[in-house]
Amino acid sequence: MKVLVPVKRVVDSNVRIRVRADGSGVELTNVKMAMNPFDEVAVEEALRMKEAGKVSEIVIVSIGPAAATDTIRTGLAMGADRGILIKTDQNVEPLAVAKLLQKVIDEEKPQLVLMGKQAIDDDYNQTGQMLAALTSLPQGTFASKIELNGDSVDVAREIDGGIQTVQLKLPAIVTVDLHLNEPRYASLPNIMKAKKKPLDEKTPEAYGVDISPRVKILKTSEPAARTAGIKVANAAELVAKLKEAGVI
Ligand code: AMP
Repeated sequence: MKVLVPVKRVVDSNVRIRVRADGSGVELTNVKMAMNPFDEVAVEEALRMKEAGKVSEIVIVSIGPAAATDTIRTGLAMGADRGILIKTDQNVEPLAVAKLLQKVIDEEKPQLVLMGKQAIDDDYNQTGQMLAALTSLPQGTFASKIELNGDSVDVAREIDGGIQTVQLKLPAIVTVDLHLNEPRYASLPNIMKAKKKPLDEKTPEAYGVDISPRVKILKTSEPAARTAGIKVANAAELVAKLKEAGVI
Protein backbone atom coordinates (compact mmCIF):
# COMPACT_ATOMS: atom_id res chain seq x y z
CA MET A 1 0.00 0.00 0.00
CA LYS A 2 1.28 3.41 -1.02
CA VAL A 3 0.93 6.59 1.06
CA LEU A 4 1.37 10.06 -0.41
CA VAL A 5 2.43 12.83 1.99
CA PRO A 6 2.29 16.42 0.69
CA VAL A 7 4.68 18.67 2.65
CA LYS A 8 5.06 22.44 2.52
CA ARG A 9 8.21 24.48 3.08
CA VAL A 10 7.34 27.24 5.55
CA VAL A 11 9.11 29.67 7.90
CA ASP A 12 10.54 27.64 10.81
CA SER A 13 8.06 27.72 13.71
CA ASN A 14 10.84 28.94 16.07
CA VAL A 15 11.52 32.06 13.99
CA ARG A 16 9.97 35.35 15.11
CA ILE A 17 7.89 36.48 12.13
CA ARG A 18 8.60 39.99 10.81
CA VAL A 19 6.27 41.82 8.45
CA ARG A 20 7.93 43.57 5.49
CA ALA A 21 8.15 47.33 5.95
CA ASP A 22 5.80 47.92 2.98
CA GLY A 23 3.16 45.52 4.42
CA SER A 24 3.34 43.35 1.29
CA GLY A 25 3.86 40.16 3.31
CA VAL A 26 6.14 38.38 5.73
CA GLU A 27 9.92 38.84 5.47
CA LEU A 28 11.44 35.68 3.95
CA THR A 29 14.95 36.89 3.11
CA ASN A 30 17.59 35.05 5.17
CA VAL A 31 14.89 33.44 7.29
CA LYS A 32 15.24 29.80 8.42
CA MET A 33 12.71 27.59 6.65
CA ALA A 34 11.49 24.12 7.64
CA MET A 35 8.83 21.50 7.00
CA ASN A 36 5.34 22.62 8.08
CA PRO A 37 4.95 21.05 11.58
CA PHE A 38 1.58 19.42 10.72
CA ASP A 39 3.27 17.75 7.73
CA GLU A 40 6.02 16.35 9.98
CA VAL A 41 3.24 14.67 11.95
CA ALA A 42 1.81 13.27 8.69
CA VAL A 43 5.24 11.88 7.67
CA GLU A 44 5.70 10.35 11.13
CA GLU A 45 2.29 8.65 10.97
CA ALA A 46 3.08 7.20 7.54
CA LEU A 47 6.41 5.88 8.90
CA ARG A 48 4.66 4.21 11.84
CA MET A 49 2.21 2.55 9.43
CA LYS A 50 5.17 1.28 7.39
CA GLU A 51 6.93 0.01 10.51
CA ALA A 52 3.71 -1.81 11.47
CA GLY A 53 3.86 -3.60 8.10
CA LYS A 54 0.69 -1.93 6.79
CA VAL A 55 2.36 0.36 4.24
CA SER A 56 4.96 -0.53 1.62
CA GLU A 57 5.91 2.85 0.15
CA ILE A 58 5.86 6.48 1.30
CA VAL A 59 6.08 9.19 -1.36
CA ILE A 60 6.68 12.81 -0.33
CA VAL A 61 5.52 15.63 -2.61
CA SER A 62 6.15 19.35 -2.31
CA ILE A 63 5.15 22.28 -4.48
CA GLY A 64 7.53 25.18 -4.19
CA PRO A 65 10.92 26.63 -5.15
CA ALA A 66 14.10 24.58 -5.71
CA ALA A 67 14.84 24.97 -1.98
CA ALA A 68 11.75 22.85 -1.21
CA THR A 69 14.07 19.95 -2.15
CA ASP A 70 15.51 20.32 1.38
CA THR A 71 12.03 19.89 2.84
CA ILE A 72 11.51 16.73 0.80
CA ARG A 73 14.95 15.44 1.83
CA THR A 74 13.96 15.98 5.48
CA GLY A 75 11.02 13.63 4.91
CA LEU A 76 13.30 11.14 3.15
CA ALA A 77 15.79 11.36 6.04
CA MET A 78 12.96 10.62 8.48
CA GLY A 79 12.40 7.41 6.47
CA ALA A 80 10.16 8.07 3.44
CA ASP A 81 11.09 6.26 0.20
CA ARG A 82 11.07 8.84 -2.59
CA GLY A 83 10.13 12.39 -3.39
CA ILE A 84 8.49 14.57 -6.04
CA LEU A 85 9.19 18.29 -6.32
CA ILE A 86 6.74 20.34 -8.39
CA LYS A 87 8.96 23.30 -8.93
CA THR A 88 7.68 26.87 -9.06
CA ASP A 89 8.78 30.22 -7.67
CA GLN A 90 5.22 31.51 -7.62
CA ASN A 91 3.08 31.69 -4.50
CA VAL A 92 0.69 28.75 -4.94
CA GLU A 93 -2.78 29.04 -3.41
CA PRO A 94 -4.60 26.03 -1.89
CA LEU A 95 -6.84 25.42 -4.94
CA ALA A 96 -3.81 25.28 -7.25
CA VAL A 97 -1.96 23.01 -4.77
CA ALA A 98 -5.02 20.75 -4.66
CA LYS A 99 -5.24 20.63 -8.48
CA LEU A 100 -1.55 19.65 -8.70
CA LEU A 101 -1.95 17.03 -5.97
CA GLN A 102 -4.92 15.64 -7.90
CA LYS A 103 -2.59 15.08 -10.88
CA VAL A 104 -0.05 13.36 -8.63
CA ILE A 105 -2.81 11.12 -7.25
CA ASP A 106 -3.87 10.24 -10.84
CA GLU A 107 -0.26 9.23 -11.57
CA GLU A 108 0.74 7.58 -8.31
CA LYS A 109 -2.62 6.08 -7.26
CA PRO A 110 -1.89 6.09 -3.50
CA GLN A 111 -4.32 4.30 -1.19
CA LEU A 112 -3.94 7.02 1.41
CA VAL A 113 -3.03 10.71 1.28
CA LEU A 114 -1.81 11.90 4.68
CA MET A 115 -1.39 15.65 4.95
CA GLY A 116 -1.32 18.49 7.45
CA LYS A 117 -4.60 20.08 8.48
CA GLN A 118 -3.04 23.47 7.81
CA ALA A 119 0.16 25.21 6.81
CA ILE A 120 1.39 27.52 9.56
CA ASP A 121 2.36 30.32 7.17
CA ASP A 122 -1.00 31.14 5.57
CA ASP A 123 -3.22 29.20 8.03
CA TYR A 124 -5.63 28.36 5.21
CA ASN A 125 -6.78 24.88 6.30
CA GLN A 126 -8.25 24.32 2.82
CA THR A 127 -6.02 22.10 0.70
CA GLY A 128 -7.09 18.66 2.03
CA GLN A 129 -10.77 19.53 1.77
CA MET A 130 -10.37 20.92 -1.77
CA LEU A 131 -8.37 17.85 -2.81
CA ALA A 132 -11.12 15.56 -1.50
CA ALA A 133 -13.70 17.54 -3.48
CA LEU A 134 -11.64 17.47 -6.70
CA THR A 135 -10.90 13.75 -6.48
CA SER A 136 -14.28 12.69 -4.98
CA LEU A 137 -12.32 10.78 -2.35
CA PRO A 138 -13.61 10.47 1.24
CA GLN A 139 -11.94 12.81 3.74
CA GLY A 140 -11.18 12.63 7.45
CA THR A 141 -10.00 15.98 8.77
CA PHE A 142 -8.16 16.99 12.00
CA ALA A 143 -7.14 13.40 12.80
CA SER A 144 -5.90 12.68 16.33
CA LYS A 145 -5.87 8.90 15.77
CA ILE A 146 -5.70 6.86 12.54
CA GLU A 147 -6.19 3.11 12.23
CA LEU A 148 -5.87 1.21 8.97
CA ASN A 149 -8.15 -1.82 8.71
CA GLY A 150 -7.74 -3.56 5.36
CA ASP A 151 -9.74 -1.58 2.83
CA SER A 152 -10.83 1.17 5.21
CA VAL A 153 -9.36 3.63 7.68
CA ASP A 154 -10.82 4.77 11.03
CA VAL A 155 -10.10 8.40 11.83
CA ALA A 156 -10.69 9.96 15.24
CA ARG A 157 -11.36 13.65 14.63
CA GLU A 158 -10.87 16.48 17.08
CA ILE A 159 -14.14 18.40 17.10
CA ASP A 160 -15.60 21.00 19.47
CA GLY A 161 -16.20 19.34 22.82
CA GLY A 162 -14.96 15.86 21.94
CA ILE A 163 -13.77 13.27 19.48
CA GLN A 164 -15.74 11.92 16.52
CA THR A 165 -14.62 8.67 14.87
CA VAL A 166 -15.38 8.17 11.18
CA GLN A 167 -14.65 5.26 8.86
CA LEU A 168 -13.46 6.01 5.33
CA LYS A 169 -13.24 3.59 2.45
CA LEU A 170 -9.77 3.59 0.87
CA PRO A 171 -8.44 5.38 -1.11
CA ALA A 172 -8.96 8.36 1.19
CA ILE A 173 -7.56 11.71 2.28
CA VAL A 174 -6.72 12.33 5.93
CA THR A 175 -5.55 15.66 7.36
CA VAL A 176 -3.71 15.44 10.66
CA ASP A 177 -3.70 17.41 13.89
CA LEU A 178 -0.63 17.99 16.05
CA HIS A 179 -1.84 15.64 18.80
CA LEU A 180 -1.56 12.57 16.55
CA ASN A 181 2.08 11.80 17.36
CA GLU A 182 5.51 13.19 18.20
CA PRO A 183 7.60 13.29 14.98
CA ARG A 184 11.08 11.75 15.09
CA TYR A 185 14.32 13.55 14.32
CA ALA A 186 16.34 12.26 11.38
CA SER A 187 19.65 10.66 12.43
CA LEU A 188 22.88 11.70 10.71
CA PRO A 189 23.29 8.35 8.86
CA ASN A 190 19.70 8.66 7.62
CA ILE A 191 20.33 12.24 6.45
CA MET A 192 23.26 10.89 4.41
CA LYS A 193 21.19 7.99 3.06
CA ALA A 194 18.37 10.37 2.07
CA LYS A 195 20.69 12.13 -0.37
CA LYS A 196 20.65 9.00 -2.53
CA LYS A 197 16.90 8.41 -2.47
CA PRO A 198 15.05 9.14 -5.74
CA LEU A 199 13.62 12.65 -6.15
CA ASP A 200 11.69 13.51 -9.34
CA GLU A 201 11.30 17.06 -10.51
CA LYS A 202 8.16 18.27 -12.33
CA THR A 203 6.51 21.59 -13.15
CA PRO A 204 2.93 22.88 -12.90
CA GLU A 205 3.04 23.51 -16.67
CA ALA A 206 3.87 19.87 -17.39
CA TYR A 207 0.78 18.90 -15.41
CA GLY A 208 -1.27 21.49 -17.34
CA VAL A 209 -2.40 23.25 -14.16
CA ASP A 210 -2.92 27.02 -14.10
CA ILE A 211 -1.50 28.21 -10.78
CA SER A 212 -2.07 31.94 -11.28
CA PRO A 213 -3.31 33.53 -8.05
CA ARG A 214 -6.99 34.38 -7.57
CA VAL A 215 -6.63 36.14 -4.25
CA LYS A 216 -4.87 39.47 -3.83
CA ILE A 217 -3.33 40.13 -0.42
CA LEU A 218 -4.10 43.78 0.30
CA LYS A 219 -2.09 44.21 3.46
CA THR A 220 -0.19 42.27 6.10
CA SER A 221 0.24 43.84 9.53
CA GLU A 222 1.79 42.96 12.88
CA PRO A 223 -0.63 42.16 15.72
CA ALA A 224 -1.38 45.24 17.86
CA ALA A 225 1.13 45.62 20.70
CA ARG A 226 -0.34 44.61 24.07
CA THR A 227 -0.66 47.33 26.67
CA ALA A 228 1.20 46.75 29.94
CA GLY A 229 -0.73 45.24 32.88
CA ILE A 230 -1.01 46.74 36.36
CA LYS A 231 -0.37 45.29 39.82
CA VAL A 232 -3.06 45.47 42.48
CA ALA A 233 -2.36 45.50 46.21
CA ASN A 234 -5.13 43.10 47.30
CA ALA A 235 -8.28 41.22 46.31
CA ALA A 236 -10.57 44.15 47.15
CA GLU A 237 -8.70 46.41 44.75
CA LEU A 238 -8.83 43.68 42.09
CA VAL A 239 -12.63 43.40 42.47
CA ALA A 240 -12.96 47.20 42.30
CA LYS A 241 -10.87 47.36 39.11
CA LEU A 242 -12.85 44.54 37.49
CA LYS A 243 -16.11 46.36 38.35
CA GLU A 244 -14.69 49.57 36.94
CA ALA A 245 -13.83 47.78 33.69
CA GLY A 246 -17.33 46.27 33.54
CA VAL A 247 -15.96 42.70 33.67
CA ILE A 248 -18.04 41.79 36.75
P1 AMP B 1 -3.30 24.79 3.85
O1 AMP B 1 -4.63 24.42 3.25
O2 AMP B 1 -2.51 25.76 2.99
O3 AMP B 1 -3.43 25.28 5.28
O4 AMP B 1 -2.38 23.46 3.86
C1 AMP B 1 -2.86 22.22 4.32
C2 AMP B 1 -1.90 21.12 3.92
O5 AMP B 1 -1.82 21.05 2.49
C3 AMP B 1 -0.46 21.28 4.38
O6 AMP B 1 -0.30 20.85 5.72
C4 AMP B 1 0.27 20.38 3.38
O7 AMP B 1 0.12 19.00 3.71
C5 AMP B 1 -0.53 20.63 2.09
N1 AMP B 1 0.10 21.71 1.30
C6 AMP B 1 -0.21 23.02 1.29
N2 AMP B 1 0.62 23.71 0.46
C7 AMP B 1 1.49 22.80 -0.05
C8 AMP B 1 2.59 22.87 -0.95
N3 AMP B 1 2.98 24.01 -1.50
N4 AMP B 1 3.25 21.71 -1.24
C9 AMP B 1 2.87 20.53 -0.70
N5 AMP B 1 1.85 20.41 0.16
C10 AMP B 1 1.16 21.53 0.49
